[in-house]
Amino acid sequence: MSPKYIYFFGNGSAEGSADMKHLLGGKGANLAEMTNLGIPVPPGFTITTEVCDAYYKKNQQYPEGLAEEIERNLSQLEKLMGAKLGDAENPLLVSVRSGAAASMPGMMDTVLNLGLNPDAIKGLMKKTGNERFAWDAYRRFITMFGDVVMGVERHHFEEILDKYKKKTRVKSDTELTAEQLKNIVEEFKVIYKKKTRESFPHDPKVQLQKAINAVFASWNNPRAIKYRQLYDIKGLLGTAVNVQAMVFGNMGNDSATGVCFTRNPSTGENKFYGEFLINAQGEDVVAGIRTPEPIADLEKEMPDAYSQLVKYKNILENHFKDVQDIEFTIQESRLFMLQTRTGKRTARAAVKLAVDMAREGLIDKKTAISRIDPGQLDQLLHPTFDPKAKREIVAVGLPASPGAATGRVVFCAEDAERLAEKNEKVILVRKETSPEDIGGMHASQGILTTRGGMTSHAAVVARGMGKCCVAGCGSLNVDYKNQNFKVNGRVIKKGEYISLDGSSGEVMLGQVSTIEPKLSGDFATLMEWADEYRKLKIRTNADTPEDARKARELGAEGIGLCRTEHMFFGENRIDSVRQMILSAPDVKNLKAKISFLEKELAKAANDKADVLKKELMLVKKELKEPLVSYSSALKNLLPMQRRDFEQIFKAMDGLPVTIRLLDPPLHEFLPQEEYNQKEIAKKMKLSLKEIQEKVSALHELNPMLGHRGCRLGVTYPEIYDMQVQAIIEAACNMKKKGITVYPEIMLPIISTEQEFSVLKDNVHKIAKDVMQKKNMQIEYMVGTMIELPRAALIADKIAKHAEFFSFGTNDLTQMTFGFSRDDVGSFVPEYLEKGILEKDPFQVLDQEGTGQLVEIGIHKGRSIRSNLKVGICGEHGGNPQTISFCHKIGMNYVSCSPFRVPIARLAAAQASLQQPVSRATV
Ligand code: ADP
Ligand code: MG
Ligand code: MG
Repeated sequence: MSPKYIYFFGNGSAEGSADMKHLLGGKGANLAEMTNLGIPVPPGFTITTEVCDAYYKKNQQYPEGLAEEIERNLSQLEKLMGAKLGDAENPLLVSVRSGAAASMPGMMDTVLNLGLNPDAIKGLMKKTGNERFAWDAYRRFITMFGDVVMGVERHHFEEILDKYKKKTRVKSDTELTAEQLKNIVEEFKVIYKKKTRESFPHDPKVQLQKAINAVFASWNNPRAIKYRQLYDIKGLLGTAVNVQAMVFGNMGNDSATGVCFTRNPSTGENKFYGEFLINAQGEDVVAGIRTPEPIADLEKEMPDAYSQLVKYKNILENHFKDVQDIEFTIQESRLFMLQTRTGKRTARAAVKLAVDMAREGLIDKKTAISRIDPGQLDQLLHPTFDPKAKREIVAVGLPASPGAATGRVVFCAEDAERLAEKNEKVILVRKETSPEDIGGMHASQGILTTRGGMTSHAAVVARGMGKCCVAGCGSLNVDYKNQNFKVNGRVIKKGEYISLDGSSGEVMLGQVSTIEPKLSGDFATLMEWADEYRKLKIRTNADTPEDARKARELGAEGIGLCRTEHMFFGENRIDSVRQMILSAPDVKNLKAKISFLEKELAKAANDKADVLKKELMLVKKELKEPLVSYSSALKNLLPMQRRDFEQIFKAMDGLPVTIRLLDPPLHEFLPQEEYNQKEIAKKMKLSLKEIQEKVSALHELNPMLGHRGCRLGVTYPEIYDMQVQAIIEAACNMKKKGITVYPEIMLPIISTEQEFSVLKDNVHKIAKDVMQKKNMQIEYMVGTMIELPRAALIADKIAKHAEFFSFGTNDLTQMTFGFSRDDVGSFVPEYLEKGILEKDPFQVLDQEGTGQLVEIGIHKGRSIRSNLKVGICGEHGGNPQTISFCHKIGMNYVSCSPFRVPIARLAAAQASLQQPVSRATV
């Protein structure tokens, strides 16, 4: 028996069901499910995604037996409907709809009213007694068939339509008469023939076959490919094709079509939400050609249909236990459901919906936690407009997708993409958007349209992307040709700044200032729930007390990485740092010279000894001055660092704080531009030449692999000494004030056991001195960053001395791949495009390679020290996928930037729900 290629649905029962999305696509599977639930769905059949797969694998040929199966299902449909394709008495019309397993709204095209030809139109008029409707259906069919199947651009048809509307001075399509529509159909056929060089096909079977081909072909159109790329949709077989009996929302004023959500997808509010258009066909609502009416008004217009709609939307939400995005059509007062799917939502709505539904008992807490994409929370952690900021509002549109966006005005997707590449913030302003604009929408901060409603393309896509969008702002007059828009007598040109408030729909001039987000309400509740389930601790990477405080508010349980060098860059410090650097290496050279001279002196004959003695005296004298300036520079820095640490300890009262000693190569602190060097020279009372000599002496061919990290600690011990002194003194001072401190001193770029043991002994020595002087005891730890492959491989040896490990996965990735962190932009994008790399390894930890080193490191480390505390402090610590891995391999914590803390809390909870047993036992 050949495999089953087609699944029928209709008359209260279906061969498919909701769990067959992979095979039937989302649309087909849910049409089947709705049919089985007894909801009125026009009957039809679904050609499986396997056929699409086979079609592409077999050089665009269909599997054997498919044609017969289509024939068989078609007759079943005709029998059920009591109508026949192309019949002059009672014609069957169908829609041909695409639909893959993952929802890709607007990506692939639908053809409606298929089956119309000169015979069928007669039949349709007879059957409905509605000539106007019949011709309206026909002209729509030719447009869609021409556009979707044959690639005749829509505007050719629209121009003809507009011509007629102008001629008869009507505003809307619905005002055109049957006679006019009939003429329009004739003109459409002419333009169709002109563009395709063939006549419009009359045979409905040919129409159907061509439409099916087009749906399968659309799976690989550039828009669909781009969409899958943007949303990382992989592993699908292809699209299914749904052939379904038509129902008509354009049969008069007792007919309508609409789109609705069981709850508000923008705010999450439990209120029926949606829009409809009287006397229209489905695509009119989404295309935003006429501005639709809010769903609540349907109750007045068609009370019966409305109450049925409410009944079915409740059934659907209860059945799927999630918000449903529903398409419906009312034909002469009879309601039909045409699609249901899980509604896309904003982050704000996602959180509210999950918390509400768990409280209602529709889902449990675990489901609530699992349902939210942690990455999406990013939206909630972005700033909003400062309510105190002055707003120069020039227009108000529909609040289609929340957010606060500021940027330069552009009028096309290409400009948006181009400017965004140059790190410019842009706002895409369009009359309406279409799937071609996806890339540009993605690149923009926000989207502003003049037409369309809350379910227009712009609105739906923006919400899906988490982008701010103001739609249907009719008072704007967009002029693409002159690249400007007019509003309230003002002209805003391309490149000027505007701001959009996606929650209020306001369009404002200039850049409006923003404020930091807060964790409260449902968001806070969800976080508390997440905390109940997660095993991983969440720390933050924070260098300043402000960051530390912010992170703590967002739930951080400690600092996983405090980079001391960032403190060096403060305005009043950098001079001391530079003074320190400029004097320090001199000491080294001079000391070397002294020891050389002393050796020579020891073995020298008398006459030479005199010369050497003289020389030695001079060098020693020379040494004295710089030494003074070196140690005085360090002395200047000490109290500043101490104060920083005090503030951070205070902000993190009761929580651990990991402080990394100086990491970057020293040349990073010196100016590279001559202009700046001159300034420094003046300040430091040195000559430009002296500065430049120092800069070139510190110059390294490969600074990433050079004199940095603990290597500085070995060669300039005074710097680390000063830092340790500052840390322990700060800890003592704070402890005295009743603050609980847990400093964890971290040595970077360790690659050998001896490196660590030498430096660690020194840390203990300094700490002991300070504690003795202060007559206090501080609980502190000394550990290391594991960021070199060698360190991971000898982690057991390092763990003999180190009390904790923190995986510095930025450097570890760099060193494992041999990719320079700073230069990946030049080839990684192409690697991703060509599928050589699946993900950017600097964003998502490469589990296969770098991750293996991390696992080895943990395993070896804990083999020596079973309670070794292990965390991650690279950029990856805030990446949900990596967090899941960290959970799996038994880390104790992840550390990420303050604004990613809530994301990490949720991701950690999801990881432990998926993988309840973690190896983290300490
Ligand atoms: P999309 O995935 O782009 O939403 P759809 O296949 O859902 O594409 O269809 C586009 C529009 O056509 C929708 O508004 C839908 O409700 C309408 N439509 C599809 N099939 C039918 C049908 N059999 N009868 C009436 N309207 C239909
Ligand atoms: Mg649809
Ligand atoms: Mg590093």
